[in-house]
Formats: sequence, C-alpha cells, structure tokens
Amino acid sequence: MASGANRNGMHKGTVKPPSAANSSNLKSSSFKSRLPPSNQSPGSALRRTNSASFTAAARDDGVPGRVRVAVRLRPRNAEELVADADFADCVELQPELKRLKLRKNNWDSETYEFDEVLTEFASQKRVYEVVAKPVVESVLDGYNGTVMAYGQTGTGKTFTLGRLGEEDTSARGIMVRSMEEILANVSLETDSVTVSYLQLYMEAIQDLLDPANDNISIVEDPKTGDVSLPGATHVEIRDEHSFLELLRLGEAHRIAANTKLNTESSRSHAILMVHVKRSVLGAEDAIPSEIDKSSHFVKPPKPLVRKSKLVLVDLAGSERIHKSGSEGHMLEEAKSINLSLSALGKCINALAENSAHVPVRDSKLTRLLRDSFGGTARTSLIVTIGPSPRHRGETASTILFGQRAMKVENMLRIKEEFDYKSLARRLEIQLDKLIAENERQQKAFDDEVERINLEAQNRVSEVERDFTDALEKERLKCQMEYMESVKKLEEKMIENQRKHGCDGFMNDKCNGKGPGFSIAEDVAEVKKLLEKEINMRKEAEEEAGGAAEILKLQKALEDEGHQKKKLEEEIIILRSQMLQLTFEAEQMRRCLGRGGSGNAYTGLDSPMSQVRDSLNGHKTPVAALFEQVGLQKILALLESEDPNVRIHAVKVVANLAAEEANQERIVEAGGLTSLLMLLRSYEDETVHRVAAGAIANLAMNEANQELIMVQGGISLLSMTASDAEDPQTLRMVAGAIANLCGNDKLQSKLRSEGGIKALLGMVRCGHLDVLSQVARGIANFAKCESRASTNGIKSGRSLLIDDGALPWIVQNANNDSAPIRRHIELALCHLAQHEVNAKDMICGGALWELVRISQDCSREDIRSLARRTLNSSPVFRAEMRRLRIEL
Ligand code: ADP
Ligand code: MG
Repeated sequence: MASGANRNGMHKGTVKPPSAANSSNLKSSSFKSRLPPSNQSPGSALRRTNSASFTAAARDDGVPGRVRVAVRLRPRNAEELVADADFADCVELQPELKRLKLRKNNWDSETYEFDEVLTEFASQKRVYEVVAKPVVESVLDGYNGTVMAYGQTGTGKTFTLGRLGEEDTSARGIMVRSMEEILANVSLETDSVTVSYLQLYMEAIQDLLDPANDNISIVEDPKTGDVSLPGATHVEIRDEHSFLELLRLGEAHRIAANTKLNTESSRSHAILMVHVKRSVLGAEDAIPSEIDKSSHFVKPPKPLVRKSKLVLVDLAGSERIHKSGSEGHMLEEAKSINLSLSALGKCINALAENSAHVPVRDSKLTRLLRDSFGGTARTSLIVTIGPSPRHRGETASTILFGQRAMKVENMLRIKEEFDYKSLARRLEIQLDKLIAENERQQKAFDDEVERINLEAQNRVSEVERDFTDALEKERLKCQMEYMESVKKLEEKMIENQRKHGCDGFMNDKCNGKGPGFSIAEDVAEVKKLLEKEINMRKEAEEEAGGAAEILKLQKALEDEGHQKKKLEEEIIILRSQMLQLTFEAEQMRRCLGRGGSGNAYTGLDSPMSQVRDSLNGHKTPVAALFEQVGLQKILALLESEDPNVRIHAVKVVANLAAEEANQERIVEAGGLTSLLMLLRSYEDETVHRVAAGAIANLAMNEANQELIMVQGGISLLSMTASDAEDPQTLRMVAGAIANLCGNDKLQSKLRSEGGIKALLGMVRCGHLDVLSQVARGIANFAKCESRASTNGIKSGRSLLIDDGALPWIVQNANNDSAPIRRHIELALCHLAQHEVNAKDMICGGALWELVRISQDCSREDIRSLARRTLNSSPVFRAEMRRLRIEL
C-alpha cells in the first residue's frame, strides 16, 4: 500500500484525483449519482429482460457504477484529549470541497479528494444518508449492494455500522437504518427479507446466529459466479424489533466466541447479509411461446422475481501486525486476519490498475466480496480514521486504501428472474376462476333455458285459453242470434197467418200445400243457412286467428332452439379452451417439477409418459374437464370453420391422445378418422404437426395400427412427410410410420403403399430426432421381416433392400448419435440373418459394418449377435475368407 502511495506521487497543495481514467466520474461524484435505469421505472428493467434471456445472469447489459468512498473522522477520545493536547490533529477536513489534508509536518501536507468527507461532527443520520441510503435503494430495486467499513481499530467502524441506538435512536448505525428503510419499502405479503449474520475469523466462517456452526463453506454458482452461504442460518425478518433482537444475539455470540478464542472482535470481520426477494409483474408478452401464437386467451403478465442482497461488512482493524505485538497463536491469527485484509488490498489494487489477474481466490473475504468489488453490486466504502498524530502512519495507509478503492469500477446488474412458481400459482388461480365462471355461465344458461320454456308454455296456454274463450263467446253469440232469428221468424209467421187468414189457406189449398208447410220449409231453410254461416265463421276464425297464433309460437320456439344451440356451441368452445389451459398449466407444473422444458407430444420414445396421471388414484382437473366437455364435442370442433378453433381443438385431442387411458375412447368416437381427415384437408403445418403427433401416439397400439392402414394412413402420412419443412412435423410423421413398421401383419401393405420410401425421404431433413425415428422404423421393419422369413411366411430378398434403404443404412451404421447407431446395428443383424440378402449386403459394404459391429459395438449382446450371424452364413464366411478377415 505504501509503495502504491509513492507511485501516486502526492504533492503539497495539489489535489490528486484517484486516476485520470476515472476523473470524469469523480467530477460528478456523489453517492447519489447515476442510478441505473431501473431506478426510474420497473418497466424499463423489464423491457431489458425481454430482449435477452430470463435470468439476470445471462444478460450483459450492466450499468457502470464506481465504488463510492467516504472518509469519516472520529472525534478525539478522552485519552487523546489529554495525550495529544499539545498537538494538532493529523488531518484537516474540507467537507465542502470533499477534500482531506493529511499533515506530514507543521508546514507540509497532502490533499486527497473523496466522494464524501464526514467530519467528527457528522451525525449518524447524515452518514447513513450519504453512504448507505443509495445502496439500500439499489437493493430495493433489485441490485446487489455492499456497505463496508475499513479502518484502524478504535476509529469507529462498529460505531458507524453496528450501533443499535437502543437508548438514543439518533445514534443508530447503518445496519439498523438500512433494515428500517428496507422494511418500509417492501410488501410483506409478496416480498421477503431474510438475514444471515456471520463472523470471518482465521479463514473460518462462523454463524453468529448459531455459533456451533463454525465452518461454513462458500458456494459459487458456476454459471453466474454468485456466491452464497447455504450453510448459514437465514432468519426471516418481519419487523424492526426482531431484527434488533437478532443483532443483539449475534453480538452476544460474537463476544462469547471471541472470549473463548482469546481474541477481540476487532480481529474478526463481521458480515451481515440481507437477502431481499421481491415480486414484480412483467409485460404481457414476456415469453412468446409456440403455444401462445394460436392461443385464444389473453396471457396474464409474466411474474418476475428480484433477488438482491445487501452485504454490510465491519472489517477487522487494519493496523499492521507489529503494532498488535502478536506472538504464537496470536501471530497465526494476525496472519490470518492479515491474509484476508491483505488479499482484499491486493484485489483492490489489481482492480484499480485494471490488471488482467485479480487474486479473488486468495482468501475467504475476497471470495465473499467478489461481487462487491469489480462485480455487479453497488458498493460504498466508508474509511474511518482517528485524529491522533501518533497514528499518522495508519491513517495514511487507510486513506490510500480508500483512494485505491475509488478507482474500482463495478457493472451494476439487476438480479431478476422469471418467477415460475408464482406463474404456476397464478395459472392455477386463473384456472379456478375460469372453472367457476364457466359453472356460473352454465347455471345462468340452464336457468335462462328453463325460463324461456316456462314462458313459452305460459304463452301457449294463455293463447289456448283466450282462443277457447273467444270461441265460446262466438258460439254463444251465434246461438243468441239464431234464437233471435228463429223468434223473429216465428213472430213473422204468426203475423202472416193472421194477415192472410183463409185467403192464404185457399191459395195454399189450391196449390196442394198447407200454409204451415210453406213456413216450416222457410224456417228450415233459414236454419240451414244460419248453421252454414256459423260453420263458415268457425272455420274462418280457426284459420285466421288460431293458425296465425300457432305459427308465431312455432317460430318463436324455433328461434329459441337456434339460440340454445349457439349457446351450447359457445360453451363447448369455452370448455375446451379451459381444457387446453389446464393442459398448459399442468405442463408448466410438470416442467417445474422436472426442471426442464416440456413438450406436449413426446409420447414417441417414452411410452411411460403415457401412464403419468392415470396412475394417480384421483381425477386430474384435465380428466374432470374432459368429462365435462365431452369427447364428441371436442372432435366436432376439429371440423370447425374457424382455423383458430380447429388448431386449438387438435391440440386438445393430441394432449388427450398422449394418455393411454383416453386412446381407446378417442378411436371409438372416430377421433382417428378426424385426425387423418386433418392431414388430408388442411394445409396448415401446425395442424399437420399436432395431428401427426396424435396419430403417432395412437399408433402405439396394435389395433389402431390396422385401423390407420385401412383408412389410408400410410399415403396420408407420406404426403404430409413430402410437404413438411418443420423437423418436428417430420419427427411426428416418422414416429408414426416407425410404430407401424413394427406390426408383423402390415409389412407388405405398408411397403406397397410407400411407407419405406416415405421414411427414407425424410432423411433429407438431417435433424437427429427425425433420423432416429427413421432408424427405429427400419429396425422394426427388419425385425418383423426376419421373423417372417424364419417362420417361412416370407421368402425372397428384404423389401428394405428392394426399396433402396441399404446405402443409407450402411452410411449411418456408425452414426455419432447412439440411438441411431443402435437401431441400425440391429437392423443390419436382422438383415444378415437371411442368406438371400447376403450378396446385396456384401456389394453395398454392409459386411464391413457387420464386422465392425462384431468387434467394436459397446453392447455385448449386439456384438455377439453380429458375430453369430456372420459365422452362420456361408456366403459371408466365404467373403471373409477371401478378404482374410478373421473374427
Ligand atoms: P472500531 O470498530 O473501528 O474498532 P469503534 O466503533 O468500536 O471502533 O469505536 C471506538 C470508540 O470510539 C467507541 O467507544 C465509539 O463509541 C467511539 N466512537 C467512534 N466513532 C465515534 C464518533 N463518530 N463519535 C463519537 N464516538 C465515536
Ligand atoms: Mg469494531
């Protein structure tokens, strides 16, 4: 340190900024300067997250932030007031200029500039505000932060950092004030604050909250470089009172431990770590996933979690060993203390000078503070000095340490990551809400239908009633009129009789008719007419009134029927959307459980994945929903006019087809036919990929394999394969054909419909997953063929060779990918078992591969199978003799 000071070349009366390179920083230097962008708004930090990755560690967009250094002078103590009474202080402070003059003698001094100069009168509150507050604010915004005190024993490090201020709150130090600020700014429902308190002594880390735990190791995350102490006690803090208790406990343990070790606290480093975890909400489109593209739902905003750490370090006294007069154990101890402190000095020198190598690993202290100096944390250092001229040397060395630290540039980086747990929780809540909403809608719908029915019934009976009433009225009216007419006619008749007397009688007599006879005839005629009129009127009424009313009612009923159907359709769509959402949520949960990425249609290589939840006794939400929606209705959506609904429905069907328990029901309900129809009728690649995945899953079952073949599945799959660009589509198609290849009964049909050619056509894509499925198909086919030849069912050359598969087989027999190699090795052994293939195999170079397999294959069983096969074939044996190959 001293030599460094000489190089700095301080001169009387000149102000020396720490370095030219950093002078621009220093000009604006203030503890509050240049907060990183996230301080302005959480949104800006989130936007950066989206542009790169989801973990802070993977981002490279840091914000430069130099280590800020303040110097604090302790007032003279009682001893100094007496002993140094005749002497001036060794330093003179110019706080307004942020300068400090270190006296060499009465007439000569050196001037240094700091970020902040705190006189002996500076209050604890002011010290907190200029030194620690900006760091604490950064920590609340998601950055790591460090506040460290450095200085000779007795100069006020613990006073500055650790005072509890129980009897006088204005005396509270940085630790208490920082926690107060943190607690005031976090929400204890969504955020958490935990604390560890440690002591580093003789290169061992001891837990001050559990002193028996005295050899805690430092763990470094190899990816992010973050250090942590998983062995230390972490106590959750919910209020200031419990924090004060904790500090008191730690201090008591520290005193006890130091008494036992025969040392003082000034010889150990005390480290308080405050872990702050805060939840924030990101933008809606934070993760564009494949599923999202066609999804109907508005995704909830992505939850993010910020995990930052505030480290408060009360270092051991920086005085040199000789001053402490150490011997024996004490010397060892001093070396160890010195080891950490001198390693810290070396690291800071290296960082200040921009050296290529920073000896971080030389001590535990420097490993712990790796992020604080030259890392991603916002760091403030307070160097404490005493006024006594007797300690001028120590004071000078402390000042130089501070000057050096001012040159250290950190790259502040927000510690933010995607909060999977909270997303899963939120999705679950959303799902519950949707289910409840759906139930509510269903209930409302049922109620509405009931209401409409009731109303219709009421109206029908009302109309019926009115109609009957009207009829009755009309009938009565007619009757009355009729009676009236009859009465009038009778009166008229009597009148006539009276008027005409016998004249009439005579006339009537001459005509051969009695007078009564003619009138009775008239009456009968009138009656008839009347009746006819009544009937006509009745008919007219029925036609005009009743028929129109009934027609109206019929139409109303029809309309209501339509509306009901439409509502039912909407409910099916809603429910199947919910089903898809449930799948996604389960996928996410499973994905979290496994810690890896999920794929909805991975049933191909792992039949076990099918068993999944069906093993669980209780019903999953998916199964429950599935029952509610009904398979038939989901399948109907596959033919929907709306392409989004179609894609959505095929995904639901594919998800269901991945569960073995559902497969039979899907096929029974005609799902297989619908899926094949999708391959035939639509050009959309997503539909093809998802449908092919579902077919591949269904094709694992022998009965379905025959159905697929019967329904022209091979030519549809071949067609899809030749049109597809996306390797995932090809993988699904190849997987489906590979499953069919394993069926003994379908061999020749599969081949005649172009199955083998389709498989070979897909190798153009070159993707390993596709190649692996192709190789599996070939191995399956060769195995069935070999079995058929052995049983005498088949004769003649292999259809694989006929269809030109041999060159690809030979080419890939030694493929770097183990699954491909394994399938092909088996295929070659199967082919070689039949003499009819031997000649073609020799010409095609397969003999060399078989020889290699018999010697090099890592699997003993395949190795010996190859050897046996070669030895039992006269043609191969003759060729090997000719080539002088010995097994
Ligand atoms: P260190 O931790 O550096 O060894 P301490 O914090 O224990 O030093 O301080 C030593 C003594 O000086 C204590 O009695 C403390 O109360 C007193 N002291 C330190 N700084 C100040 C200050 N700024 N004002 C008043 N007293 C102080
Ligand atoms: Mg102390």
